[in-house]
Amino acid sequence: MAQPQMRRAIESGVPDNKQFLHPLLAKNYGNWKYHDRPRPGVLHHVSHSGDEVWTVRAGTQRQMDVHTIRTLCDIADAWAESHVRFTIRSNIEFMVSSSDKVAPLISALEGSGFPVGGTGNSVSMIAHTQGWLHCDIPGTDASGVVKALMDELHEEFRREEMPNRVHLSTSCCEINCGGQADIAIIVQHTKPPKINHDLVANVCERPAVVARCPVAAIRPALVNGKPSLEVDEKKCICCGACYPPCPPMQINDPEHSKLAIWVGGKNSNARAKPTFMKMVAAGLPNNPPRWPEVGEVVTRILRVYKADARGWERMSDWIERIGWPRFFEKTELPFTKYLIDDWRGARANLNASTHIRF
Ligand code: SF4
Ligand code: SF4
Repeated sequence: MAQPQMRRAIESGVPDNKQFLHPLLAKNYGNWKYHDRPRPGVLHHVSHSGDEVWTVRAGTQRQMDVHTIRTLCDIADAWAESHVRFTIRSNIEFMVSSSDKVAPLISALEGSGFPVGGTGNSVSMIAHTQGWLHCDIPGTDASGVVKALMDELHEEFRREEMPNRVHLSTSCCEINCGGQADIAIIVQHTKPPKINHDLVANVCERPAVVARCPVAAIRPALVNGKPSLEVDEKKCICCGACYPPCPPMQINDPEHSKLAIWVGGKNSNARAKPTFMKMVAAGLPNNPPRWPEVGEVVTRILRVYKADARGWERMSDWIERIGWPRFFEKTELPFTKYLIDDWRGARANLNASTHIRF
């Protein structure tokens, strides 16, 4: 009788994570009784079987060189139990089976420059998009903004003194593969793309670029006898979507690509429904390597939120309670008619309805 064919290995997708779990986590999978937080940065899980696990969370710089990763692995071997995992906000967690191992592990981590924290009502590690290292279209370096900001905010990562948890994110183009957050920093192009007509015919699929524009502002055109493109600048919303399929549509500009701050987004359903964030500051200079103007606005919003919000109010709950006029008064941010409103064209141009798709 013919043997059944062995199923071929699938060489894409993530592997089954259970093979990498700390043995106690694998043993008690789905059988946890409760957990608490003995101190900021430490979680204590108790299983129905009586097993206990302490998890120590440390911040990383996310984009790490091999020497830093080796240091973290050495700490895992010497002070933890050789198992680590990364959280979705790029923190690293070490699991140990005894409370006696927690304090030496924290000393080893902090002694090597990794702050321990990020649990409970703290400022989380900032989620960021790929930036100059991995993506070909950024207008700024999202990871660089994170480094500069966390240098100022890491004490709020190590404590749990915020009214509720505060998620931050940075994104390096307006297409924004990042996501929303309580406070988000997003690049903002303010002028339509300048077209390098000499390159368009060789580099770009013109129909693809025309189709890419969300407001139909791009048309095919002949320029100096060569096939190229033109932009109706009155329609253009400076989104930058034409740049990835056609780099000659130069949207990045040292002067006119700015940064904007959005607040009040959350994905969680806890206590109130999820909310979209709204823009509260625009036109901040894209000023590497420390982005001081952005840091000043973010720390100001955080300071006022920390002082004024009630316990367990997320940024959006706090703003909902005090109202937008009071938000701008308290933070002393200048208000203009371009802020906080939703983009009016969205209704006609985006898939705003669950019933009609186009
Ligand atoms: S936000 Fe934009 S530029 Fe940045 S990594 Fe994502 S797609 Fe690339
Ligand atoms: S920047 Fe956006 S709106 Fe402007 S032409 Fe390009 S795709 Fe269209």
